[in-house]
Amino acid sequence: MQTDIWIWVHHREGTVEEVTFGLIAEAQRLLADIGEEGTVTAVALGADLEDELPQLGTFGVSRVLYLEDEYLGFYHGELFARTLAELAARFPPNFILMAHTPEASDLCARLGALLEAALVTRAMDLKIDDQKNPVVIRPVANGYLFQDVCFNSSPCIVTFLPAVLNFPEPEESKSIKILKESLRIPPEELQTKVIRRIEADPASLDLEEADIVVAGGRGVGKGDTFGIIHELAAAVGGSVAGTRPVIDWLILPYERQIGQTGKSITPRLIINCGISGANEYTAGMEKSRKVIAINTDPRARIFRFSDLGIVGDVHEVVPLLIAPLKEI
Ligand SMILES: Cc1cc2nc3c(=O)[nH]c(=O)nc-3n(C[C@H](O)[C@H](O)[C@H](O)COP(=O)(O)OP(=O)(O)OC[C@H]3O[C@@H](n4cnc5c(N)ncnc54)[C@H](O)[C@@H]3O)c2cc1C
Repeated sequence: MQTDIWIWVHHREGTVEEVTFGLIAEAQRLLADIGEEGTVTAVALGADLEDELPQLGTFGVSRVLYLEDEYLGFYHGELFARTLAELAARFPPNFILMAHTPEASDLCARLGALLEAALVTRAMDLKIDDQKNPVVIRPVANGYLFQDVCFNSSPCIVTFLPAVLNFPEPEESKSIKILKESLRIPPEELQTKVIRRIEADPASLDLEEADIVVAGGRGVGKGDTFGIIHELAAAVGGSVAGTRPVIDWLILPYERQIGQTGKSITPRLIINCGISGANEYTAGMEKSRKVIAINTDPRARIFRFSDLGIVGDVHEVVPLLIAPLKEI
């Protein structure tokens, strides 16, 4: 029997998110490791994704299971998990790969329980050992140690840390089969109901979900001086983060720390203010799409990771940025 690897299509506001392409690359690598013929199947639940799905073929997906329904327009844990479990019963996969986003971490736990499947979260790597068993490598103890986890059941559900996912270059599209399925779980049968959705304030958004992050370091200073970071974040619609010294000073809570012992993030844009760029810090943000850094020291390591560097005092530069941004 052929190996079938499912990848979960992460999407937001009708657009497939880049972590999805990273998952396809992981699936391709796993198939090559297994060394047998197999398929990569993308599974998408949502509404109005039709135009987005064919591009998955350019990254190596051969089949898409697309379930379109207005009830699937927004994430609903019970409905999504039951729908996926029902699809998995009809088209049994060997692996189900997701990125460890807040939504997927809810979904994978529900799905694991429904399928009675092995689940390993926050993977850094998934490989095949000498005995042909899948092994997941994941960080434990705040990233100080790594753990190898083996599976002996199928399917295996694995969520990857978004920061380890590499975005492959698209290739020429191979033929892709889009199987459109309809919702088989009657929404009135569900035990839970979404009453309303409240948009989060970007400033307080979970760092792993934020599109834009404004991070402050020791160079911003203690106490009130950190207010400019909040002001800049408000002006750009970003979420606030810090380096370890800032967390140690209790200016921000621990969940706002970026780095090896904090969060690994991949926002569209990160603005680093008064941050030197120690490797324990950059380990958590180096996969950001665009990086801006403001630092008084032209030789600061952070500039090596930056698309745009501003050599200057944050207390002079940031107000200059905030003023026109507020006007926009
Ligand atoms: C095991 C271990 C794990 C760690 N994990 C993490 C982690 O997860 N996250 C993390 O952040 N750190 C972590 N660290 C700490 C890390 O090594 C660095 O010490 C830390 O990242 C430095 O933070 P910083 O850049 O804010 O401060 P500094 O290294 O002190 O840099 C401050 C920067 O601000 C600049 N500056 C000063 N004044 C101004 C000004 N007015 N305007 C503009 N620029 C200015 C300076 O030129 C300097 O480059 C860890 C360390 C260890 C040993």
